[in-house]
Amino acid sequence: MECPKCKKQMRKGFLPVYKGRLFWAPEPERIPLFINSKPKDSIVLSDYTLSLPLKAEAYYCPTCKMVIMHEKDNQTSDDSAENPFM
Ligand SMILES: [Zn+2]
Repeated sequence: MECPKCKKQMRKGFLPVYKGRLFWAPEPERIPLFINSKPKDSIVLSDYTLSLPLKAEAYYCPTCKMVIMHEKDNQTSDDSAENPFM
């Protein structure tokens, strides 16, 4: 993947996910209290896991010190009424 800032080739790698799942959330959402919750309008970046660690694919630009990730393709349908605080 080409870095959108400096146009150099980014390094392919991953972010480890040990419990729960990785997601991006918009401001001003808060970090959920429960591991299986996720904020409104958040974007899931990894599968949900409690046992085996997962790899969430990510690209890193050493020049810009920036990581870029893709939204996970297969969004599960467990998003409804998942977070009791929303
Ligand atoms: Zn860059």
